[in-house]
Amino acid sequence: MAIVGEYQDKVAKKWKDNDFTSDLPTLGLCLSEEVGEIAKAINQSNPKYKLKGNEIPYILREELHDALVYICAIANSANIKLGI
Ligand SMILES: [Mg+2]
Repeated sequence: MAIVGEYQDKVAKKWKDNDFTSDLPTLGLCLSEEVGEIAKAINQSNPKYKLKGNEIPYILREELHDALVYICAIANSANIKLGI
């Protein structure tokens, strides 16, 4: 669990260094978007799924990472420490 806390601290530094928003509704929407991308990546991994011409290929590992970043950002914005 400590690893999650360390990751959360890295996200906090990235947010501060880049002056990213800490607005909870905005972060919540961004997380929702990433969850949708996770679903898309899972869907695209189905052998029956065929990418359309202009469709972005989503990679599950990357989308899981993106969602974790926003979970950490939300926790930071709400002053919640993840892990033990
Ligand atoms: Mg993403």
